[in-house]
Amino acid sequence: MVKSTGTMNGTTGESRGLDEWIKLSTVLAGRFAERAAAHDREGSFPFENFSELKDAGFMRITVPAVFGGYEAPLETYLRVQEELARGDGSTALAFMMHAKLFGQQRDGPAYPEHWFAEFCRGAVEEGWTCNTVATEEGLGSPAGGGLPDTVAVERDENWVLDGRKTFTTMAPLLHYFIVLARIDDPGGGPAELANFVVYRDDPGVRIEETWDSLGMRATGSHDMVLERVRLPAERIATRRTVGSGDARGAAGTAWFALGVSATTIGVAQAALDYAAAFARERTPNSQRTIMEYPGVRSRIGRAQLLLIRSRAMVYDAARAWERRDEDGGGTAVTDRIVAAKADTLNNCIEAVDLCMRVVGGVSLQKRRPIERYYRDVRAGLHNPPIEDRAIEQLARTVLAEPAEAPQAAE
Ligand SMILES: Cc1cc2nc3c(=O)[nH]c(=O)nc-3n(C[C@H](O)[C@H](O)[C@H](O)COP(=O)(O)OP(=O)(O)OC[C@H]3O[C@@H](n4cnc5c(N)ncnc54)[C@H](O)[C@@H]3O)c2cc1C
Repeated sequence: MVKSTGTMNGTTGESRGLDEWIKLSTVLAGRFAERAAAHDREGSFPFENFSELKDAGFMRITVPAVFGGYEAPLETYLRVQEELARGDGSTALAFMMHAKLFGQQRDGPAYPEHWFAEFCRGAVEEGWTCNTVATEEGLGSPAGGGLPDTVAVERDENWVLDGRKTFTTMAPLLHYFIVLARIDDPGGGPAELANFVVYRDDPGVRIEETWDSLGMRATGSHDMVLERVRLPAERIATRRTVGSGDARGAAGTAWFALGVSATTIGVAQAALDYAAAFARERTPNSQRTIMEYPGVRSRIGRAQLLLIRSRAMVYDAARAWERRDEDGGGTAVTDRIVAAKADTLNNCIEAVDLCMRVVGGVSLQKRRPIERYYRDVRAGLHNPPIEDRAIEQLARTVLAEPAEAPQAAE
């Protein structure tokens, strides 16, 4: 666990209850919803949403109290993710990449204390954001355990980094880029994996605005290019041999996979809210409102069932994680987490599809938010753990095979 290094701004001990967080999140989500269509259309980054999140203290929601944060529990963080995503999935997902880091470090310290204290200070005093920058075109997801092409070479007691990262969520705003790179052994031994703290104004760093995607278009997940970026030795935050487990371990999975799940539930809930309001109003040919048709009612009920099921699994897994209930009900907590994520993504995609059918042909119109929900709800499929790896993990447990070493949680 992280030890106290003193208080900051006299904010230590300040707390907010779940109700207060939900109330604040709902207000912000309402504003985000008004801006979401324009950012989605233009693929622009919602700076004003992040400025409002900062002003409302959200940048320190999960930061430990000893560093001046609110130290919100996992369940509170998930409820906040849901609410924010009801307004704008992109903003919620991007925000999650920041918030999860502090929760994960509370539960499974991976970054050295001095760096974590710096991330906390930045979040609390300046409202600065951080995120891990691991994925690459050639590597794909680092969760697969592969080696990045981005390479760090030691030279004159400095590190020199070269490479290109993809999916750098929040790239237009990020302060702390935590960049995964490979360190080759000059002696021909196995390579190492390291995370470096990089700033946008480090010479040789460039953001290329490549993010033009089907969904989550306003997350600013652009490419980060590093060309002979020279960093002092202390910028190395973590270092491990290839094949050893990621230090974030199960904590990384808990805060990341459940965060993605809650965000996805929020998007699907927005679609259901829209479909229900539409069904109550829509009266084709001045006959009956469509909510009276059995097919429409069935789709609305089924979408709700899928959301209830998703929440049940996500919050069950979250509570099990908080209790470190390693074998609650006969299922290991990490298995409950990955199962919840895989099932939630499928449930929410299906739920939004049902909502589209409720709304009918006009659901395809760009001017309606449901069309955006239909695209946004898919994105989390490609955040780890992907379904195949989740199912493989479950199979290993059932077959009494040893668990794989935890990999990156991006
Ligand atoms: C909206 C969004 C935001 C993101 N933000 C970030 C971020 O901030 N930082 C970051 O580092 N990354 C980020 N990512 C990247 C993400 O974490 C993945 O690395 C990326 O989506 C590629 O994953 P993949 O599994 O499709 O890629 P690949 O590893 O290339 O896999 C390609 C395909 O092969 C399958 N596959 C690969 N390996 C296996 C295996 N072992 N078993 C079974 N199937 C396998 C996959 O299922 C997939 O279908 C983001 C992604 C999205 C969509």
